[in-house]
Amino acid sequence: MPDAQSAEAAIRGWCPTAWRPMAAGDGLLVRVRPPLGRLSVAQATELGEASRRHGNGLIDLTNRAALQIRGVTGQSHRPLLEQLGALGLTDPDPAREARRNFVLAPDWCAGDDTESIAQELLARIDDLPELPAKVGIAIDTGPAPVLTQVPADFRFERGESGDLLLRAESHARGTPTSIETAARDLIALTRWFLETGGATSGRMARHNLPLPQTPTIAPASPRSFQQLLAQASGPFHGLPFGQLDADSLAAMAGRHGVTALRLTPWRGLILEGGTTSPGHAATDPLLRVDACPGAPACPQASVTTRDLATRLAPLVDGSLHVSGCAKGCARPTPADIVLTGRQGRFDLARKAGAGSPPDQTGLTSHQILALFGSP
Ligand code: SF4
Repeated sequence: MPDAQSAEAAIRGWCPTAWRPMAAGDGLLVRVRPPLGRLSVAQATELGEASRRHGNGLIDLTNRAALQIRGVTGQSHRPLLEQLGALGLTDPDPAREARRNFVLAPDWCAGDDTESIAQELLARIDDLPELPAKVGIAIDTGPAPVLTQVPADFRFERGESGDLLLRAESHARGTPTSIETAARDLIALTRWFLETGGATSGRMARHNLPLPQTPTIAPASPRSFQQLLAQASGPFHGLPFGQLDADSLAAMAGRHGVTALRLTPWRGLILEGGTTSPGHAATDPLLRVDACPGAPACPQASVTTRDLATRLAPLVDGSLHVSGCAKGCARPTPADIVLTGRQGRFDLARKAGAGSPPDQTGLTSHQILALFGSP
């Protein structure tokens, strides 16, 4: 159960890492960011085993393509860290681990620009400043950006004419960069962010100051997730709510032909080298739904969330977010329909984020299902 360390971690807005876990209703939550967003077959199998041995065997895939091992205790945290370190999945230095907040376009290939920039940043991780916990870097240099809707503060992308650019969130254009200077340019931009009060702003999107260099290049029109999957190195394995467990991880890694698992920010993994997947298809409406674990897993929640989200998924046109409370962990951006738990019931808002002023209040699950046409 949560200990003194986790009590500190329960502060709202906390962003867990492997070294600084967060308290949830089912124990500590340990976030793992596999380097380059890829797990070898052996790493996937061992990570699943570690989640069972040191946690409760449940694992989340986050919207930044990280994994969260659930149900860890104060006693099992240290041995779990040692095992993750031995697998090459965490950095032995907590400060370096916290700086590895990268998400890569999951169709990167060995030697391409996305992989090269990520490797260079990992090699120069000590030169990156310590940024606010939620600040992330998207490395997205395929033919056109695909991570545009994925939360990030600084993005490597490509313009229409193929030029590499570095773009700060909320700015329509970026500044030119190159493979040789990408790491240096990012380090300089993140240092500027901190020197101009970024620690107070918290996120680049709230940091309303002129950039140190005038941005000149617009990114190419984004690719869709389906376009990426059409070119991917294996089939997509969709996971409703990004939820998996030790057994399903081992089963995916053990499928015929699979050489590795690529983590994606779209509630699923790519089975690299595989030919078929028994997971949910990318078009399944259930994968469009965001719902945090809710009660009883999270102490902030007064409602269960995922049963209702599963039943509503085929009934709601557009995006749906079911949130256990106003914090809205599962989705930082507005949804067409958002249901926010409050005192055992739900508030409903349209085109809004969790906790926004509601259109209707105090609804039961039954009333909500009826509202959307469930018999
Ligand atoms: S949004 Fe969900 S997971 Fe986040 S604090 Fe609230 S109930 Fe917990």
